[in-house]
Amino acid sequence: MLSVEKAKQAVIENVSLLSVENIPIEKSYGYVLAEDIYSPLALPPFNQSAMDGYAFIFDDLKNKLPLKIIAEVAAGNQYKETLRSGDAIRIFTGAPVPLGADCIVMQEKVRVEINLLHILDTTLNPYSNIRLKGSQIEKEELALSKGTKVTAATIGFIAGMGITSIQVVRKPKVNVIVTGSELQKPGNPLKEGQIFESNSYSISAALNSMDLSADRIESVADNEVEVNAIIARSIETCDVLVLSGGISVGDYDFVERGLKNSTVEPIFYKVKQKPGKPLFFGKYKNTIVFALPGNPAAVLSCFYNYVYPALRKMQGFSSHFLKSVKLPISTDYPKKSGLSNFLNAKMDKDKILPLEGQASYILRSYAIADSIIYLPEESENLKAGELVEVFLLPK
Ligand code: AMP
Ligand code: MG
Repeated sequence: MLSVEKAKQAVIENVSLLSVENIPIEKSYGYVLAEDIYSPLALPPFNQSAMDGYAFIFDDLKNKLPLKIIAEVAAGNQYKETLRSGDAIRIFTGAPVPLGADCIVMQEKVRVEINLLHILDTTLNPYSNIRLKGSQIEKEELALSKGTKVTAATIGFIAGMGITSIQVVRKPKVNVIVTGSELQKPGNPLKEGQIFESNSYSISAALNSMDLSADRIESVADNEVEVNAIIARSIETCDVLVLSGGISVGDYDFVERGLKNSTVEPIFYKVKQKPGKPLFFGKYKNTIVFALPGNPAAVLSCFYNYVYPALRKMQGFSSHFLKSVKLPISTDYPKKSGLSNFLNAKMDKDKILPLEGQASYILRSYAIADSIIYLPEESENLKAGELVEVFLLPK
């Protein structure tokens, strides 16, 4: 049986970057940049007024006041001549600063008498209230690096440089298969012995939290022929196949055989961890396969620790695992050495609280958790105040 560390390493080693595609920026939210982007122009492209006010020559403050207001320039317009000493120009935010002018005073700090400008601001300096050309970014300067996730601000920044399409890493196609003859879809009446199927919902939402979505979600009963068939079909159409349930040692657990039947090469099966010991990871052509044990908390724990980093690596992120911090645990916690533990937990000021209800069938505690405590294999009974590693769950 593999240690958690070895298993995580095996996942990263067996996952490769997906291909790159060129897409319009308005479709690029949530993708990862596959290229460095250099600015094709200086931003701002010209010296720009940062205020509604008056443009003038700074040296005129000494002995030329009041100034004569001779023209007006608004955003989108231009004053075509060079400003002369003793003159001022009414200017608005975003308008190009007239040639010759090197200072802007905001309109709240002046007094205007007909067309004469008295400047009351004593704090002005050369270039006050002017956004200098190239002060955000110079032409040909590196604007965004490969590996950056495209956010609202990223898209706005790219559009502001006049760029309309970008190279991104293709998003992975993820198929999900949930197995179990006891599973009923929520919304239908529950028969004796059945439970509502929830793993496809949590897996799907965990993908959504990464700005991904499940391509195909299917359910199958614990029937060997059907399990074989659905795996064989699904595995041909995705980059990542995630299965839930049926990977343990019960008489009705057919997933391992089904994967073998589809010639999936096993990379590991079973990890020294709680929850989620019977986790399977394998490869088939360019598709990677995770078979997660069906208990709902084990599904999420395995998703965040193994599937999440795989999906991040495929998309070209430079960091793969959940962010981690070290925090003191807020209570004693009993643990035997042997298996690593993942505990759903909640930040409690500057401490971390393991929640009540850590059994792998329980989602109630997970539902209010914001993080996962990681207790390594060899660790034993923890004392309140001991430092532990904490992985932060995506919001
Ligand atoms: P298994 O790994 O198939 O042995 O399932 C372990 C436990 O998780 C059993 O109690 C199942 O009923 C439950 N389980 C399996 N799949 C799901 C699912 N998709 N939604 C909710 N519970 C599930
Ligand atoms: Mg089952």
